[in-house]
Amino acid sequence: MKVAGKVAVVTGGGGGIGGAIAQALAAEGARVVVADLDAATAQAVADKINADHPGSAVAAGGDVSGTEVIRGLIELAEKGFGPVDMYFANAGITGAPGLDADDAAWDLSLDVNLRSHIRAAQLLVPGWVERGDGYFVSTASAAGLLTQIGGATYAVTKHAAVGFAEWLSVTYGDQGVKVSCLCPQGVNTKLLFPDEGADDGLSATAMKAVTEAGDVLEPAQVAADVLAAIDDERFLILPHPKVLDMYRHKGADYD
Ligand code: NAD
Repeated sequence: MKVAGKVAVVTGGGGGIGGAIAQALAAEGARVVVADLDAATAQAVADKINADHPGSAVAAGGDVSGTEVIRGLIELAEKGFGPVDMYFANAGITGAPGLDADDAAWDLSLDVNLRSHIRAAQLLVPGWVERGDGYFVSTASAAGLLTQIGGATYAVTKHAAVGFAEWLSVTYGDQGVKVSCLCPQGVNTKLLFPDEGADDGLSATAMKAVTEAGDVLEPAQVAADVLAAIDDERFLILPHPKVLDMYRHKGADYD
């Protein structure tokens, strides 16, 4: 396993997919900063990890929209465990569904779903190039490949996240920086199945796409696919087999 002994930061680590990735990393011997806007959920995931793998996780609350928060996560990892080897830009929001989304709604989605990836890469990649090693995993979405899935701010920012991850991979891949891009669909988390009353109107769109695409996946299945992709150094991670078919149908050629 390429993650054994590595130091990782997982954003959105208090949520479904991020929590599962953080736990899978620790189970393979990585040490993890579990970061989330919701400090309590981050702490709960870190506590669970530490119960099974003592001393393997620390929790951090904070909004990844800000460069200083991201810098703080990297410093926390360095102080607790050592230099960051792997960064999982996984925090995400559904945003606003239609063309009437205002500037504030666009800015929020751009900040959380895209600029947080760019800012983390700006802080980490130069050091990784210097030492010739580092792994950046971007969580985009099937909505970043197939525009018919997701609302306006979600589909557009996730397409941009796929684009940024591809650009990073192409630009720094021959300098030791590995990049993978997770494009899930239909995963059983609060993003897709919000608590009652918390539905922002997008889950109905998302659910329609899930129904059309097929079964719902559990976060642990997605995390297992992420770890397998890291082992294989595979760029695109598409855990949902039916989405893979839809993407192939679109004429995409990839490995
Ligand atoms: P989730 O809601 O369980 O987790 C998302 C986490 O991100 C939450 O814990 C939330 O508090 C955190 N977060 C939101 N804004 C933040 C911010 N500004 N700063 C720090 N943390 C923040 O949902 P999930 O399904 O686990 O989502 C994880 C990622 O997977 C997201 O990027 C999402 O877009 C992507 N995704 C999920 C699905 C799915 O079917 N669930 C499909 C495609 C893509």
